[in-house]
Amino acid sequence: MPNASPASPHSPLHFASLPLPASMQANLQQLGYLQMTPIQAASLPPALAGKDVIAQAQTGSGKTASFALALLTRLNPRWFAVQALVLCPTRELADQVTAHIRRLARSEENIKVVTLCGGVALRGQRASLEHGAHVVVGTPGRVMDHLARGYLSLQGLNTLVLDEADRMLDMGFFDDIATVAKQCPAQRQTLLFSATYPEGIEKLARQFMQAPLRVEVAAQAEQGQIEQRFFEVTRENRLATVGALLRHFRPVSTLAFCNTKQQCKAVVELLQAQGFHALALYGELEQRERDQVLAQFANRSCSVLVATDVASRGLDIEQLEAVINVDTTPDPEVHVHRIGRTGRAAAHGLAITLASLHDMGAVGRIEQYQNQPSVWYPLESLTAQSAAPLLPPMATLQLLGGRKEKIRPGDVLGALTSDEGGPAYTREQIGKIQVTEFCTFVAVQRAVAAQACAKLNAARVKGKSVKVRVL
Ligand code: AMP
Repeated sequence: MPNASPASPHSPLHFASLPLPASMQANLQQLGYLQMTPIQAASLPPALAGKDVIAQAQTGSGKTASFALALLTRLNPRWFAVQALVLCPTRELADQVTAHIRRLARSEENIKVVTLCGGVALRGQRASLEHGAHVVVGTPGRVMDHLARGYLSLQGLNTLVLDEADRMLDMGFFDDIATVAKQCPAQRQTLLFSATYPEGIEKLARQFMQAPLRVEVAAQAEQGQIEQRFFEVTRENRLATVGALLRHFRPVSTLAFCNTKQQCKAVVELLQAQGFHALALYGELEQRERDQVLAQFANRSCSVLVATDVASRGLDIEQLEAVINVDTTPDPEVHVHRIGRTGRAAAHGLAITLASLHDMGAVGRIEQYQNQPSVWYPLESLTAQSAAPLLPPMATLQLLGGRKEKIRPGDVLGALTSDEGGPAYTREQIGKIQVTEFCTFVAVQRAVAAQACAKLNAARVKGKSVKVRVL
C-alpha cells in the first residue's frame, strides 16, 4: 500500500525512527516504502525490541514486512543454521512471504530463504536445507515432515512467526503448530499475525508465547476505498448478471466468489461462452493447474478469476478493480475478507454483491457487521459500455523450463529484448515473468503474443532452445 507522500524523517511513521541498519533503510526506500503502515508502526518497535507480539492484521496491511524486518535484523548471515521459521496456511501465501522476505533481505549479505510446502518432492527441499538456510517459510504439515525425518533442525531458531494464524486454525493445524513450536528453543521470539481472534489464538498464545503484547489497528481502515453495490437477482438470472456487470463496468481484473465449486464451474463456462477470458480456482485443482491459473490472473492475462473462498486464501493480487460476490456468503466476516481484496494500493475498488430474496438474511448480517446499510442498484442500470469484447491487456507464454533448469527472469527478458530472431521487444511490452519449479510464465502484451512466442521458440534461453506456447 504505497503512501501518498513521504513522511518526514522525524515522523514516528518514518522507518528512520526504527533501529534498522542503514542498508535496510535504503532498500526500503528503493522499494517505495516511504512510511510505515499502521500495523507496522504498532508492531515493529516491540518486535524489534525482541518482544512476543500478537498483531491483528489482514492481508494488504503490510504485515509481512512487520515480521520480516524483525526476523531479518536478528539473523547472523555467517551462521548457517535456520534462525527463523514462518508458518503459513497455504503454499501460495508461503511463496509470497518468501518472495517478500527476499526483497527485504536483498540489501544484506547472502541470506538464504527456503520454502517448505507440500505438493513438491521432499528431496529438492532437503537439498536446499543441506545447502544452508537461514529462514524457512512453510506450511505446518510439510515442516513437520522435515523435522520428523531429521532434515530440518530448529535448534538455532530465534524467531518463530505464525502468519494468518486464524486460517491455520481453521484448517485444523493446531496440533501441527504445537508440534513444531515444541521443537523450537524456549528462548525465542514468537510473532503471531491473525485477521481475527478465534478462541484457538488465545490457546496458542498461552502455550507458546511469553507475555505477548497485543497490537491492533482500526480494522478495515481502507474500507473507504471500496464502493459496495448490491443487485437483487433471481435464481434464473444470477449467472447471466455476471456477464452484464463485466460489460457495464469493464474492470481489467475481477475476482468473482462462489460458495461452491459447481457454481464456479458454471460461471466460468457461461463467461467463456460469452467470450470472456475467465478461469476457475477451486480446491481440487492440481498444483500445476493452480499455478497456471494464478499466474495468468496475477499478470493480467485473465479478466475474471472465479473462486471459492477456501481456494482464494492467501491470494494476494495487487491490482484488482472489482470483486463480484456471485453468491452472497452467509458469513459476514467472509464477506469483508472478500471485498477487502479490491481497493488496495490507494486505488478505488468496486465490490458487487448479487443477492436473491433468499439471501436477505445474510445481507442483513453483513449490514450489521459492517455497520452500514447496503446500497441497491437496479439490474436495468447495467448497459454494455462498448461493443468491443472485454479482453485482458496481456497474454501468457508458458515456457517449458523453470527453476530446475536454472532459468531466471533475466534470461527470458534478455531473449525477448535482443535483436536476434525477430523484432526486439521493449520492457513495456513485457509484463510479469514468473519462474516456477518446472516452467516459466511470461506476460506479454496481447497484440504481440504470437510473435513473441515464435521469437522465444527460435531463441536460446540459458544456452538451450526452449518450448514455448501461448496459454
Ligand atoms: P502484506 O499485507 O504484507 O501482504 O503487504 C501488502 C503490500 O503492501 C505488499 O505489496 C507490500 O509490498 C506493500 N507494503 C508493505 N509495507 C509497505 C510500506 N510501508 N509502504 C508501502 N508499501 C508497503
